[in-house]
Amino acid sequence: MPRFTVVAKDDQISVKIRDVIVQKLVASNFVFDPKTPEIILVVGGDGTFLSAVHYYLNICDHAIFTGIHTGTLGFFADYTLPMLAQGLQDIVTKKPQIEIKDLLKITVKGAQEQQFYAVNEARVENIVRTQLIDVFIDGVQLETFRGTGLCVATQTGSTAYNRSLRGAVIEPGLRVMELSEVTGIHHSRYRSLGVSLVVNGSRVIRLSSPNQFSASMLCYDRESMELSGATEIECTLSDKRVYLAHYQPQSFTKRLSHLF
Ligand code: NAP
Repeated sequence: MPRFTVVAKDDQISVKIRDVIVQKLVASNFVFDPKTPEIILVVGGDGTFLSAVHYYLNICDHAIFTGIHTGTLGFFADYTLPMLAQGLQDIVTKKPQIEIKDLLKITVKGAQEQQFYAVNEARVENIVRTQLIDVFIDGVQLETFRGTGLCVATQTGSTAYNRSLRGAVIEPGLRVMELSEVTGIHHSRYRSLGVSLVVNGSRVIRLSSPNQFSASMLCYDRESMELSGATEIECTLSDKRVYLAHYQPQSFTKRLSHLF
């Protein structure tokens, strides 16, 4: 019998729905197993999905994620609250379509090398001082950027922070990364591309800082760390993936139209 768990947003409704789901699926002979689940049900919003992926990162290659959104439709869930009963019946009776989400691999180089993964994006930001960042694509220098920061988004993240930066929204299925500026400085002395750049998913985006990213932060999905002392940050699309189960697939256009 399938092993499952439920990750719920920390609010009253989501927690109540989590309990209902556990009760109903156990009654359908599913096994509640938060340690080694095969199915991870996410109750809440797209942000809850990010938390669930990071929590289960070590087993995300062997599990499928599916979601009930407690607000509007969102990008990771196919069901909203009024559709809960239908959703549970589908999970018990249907074979889902699987959508593969590539994770971004972020390698921070310095005294030691550290690796992180992101569903949406990696951002290098300094809200206090202007950052100077040399940008390389596959080892070839594109520009020296000056400004608050840079964001490297996945296709999945194109509708998140990237969209607030006026980056292009990218439809699912395209294996790409998108590099966008966070308030770049553009005048007669300093210039950088100034618009978002979408590159093939096989590229390596390397960011290098002459002052070792002093007082800058690396933010990736809901996580963050101080970067001071790092020399380079490398972003690639990872072989590590997330498998999103669609029991009742919704069109990307419909999701997008619910977003704004
Ligand atoms: P959060 O509250 O978890 O998320 C902020 C908003 O972004 C929420 O409305 C969330 O939707 C939405 N969101 C998350 N992933 C999305 C996606 N792939 N497509 C469309 N919308 C998405 O905030 P957080 O914990 O600080 O950070 C989580 C993510 O939020 C980050 O990865 C970043 O992309 C995004 N974010 C965006 C901005 C911005 O646009 N200015 C600022 C901060 C963070 P739900 O309400 O459904 O959870």
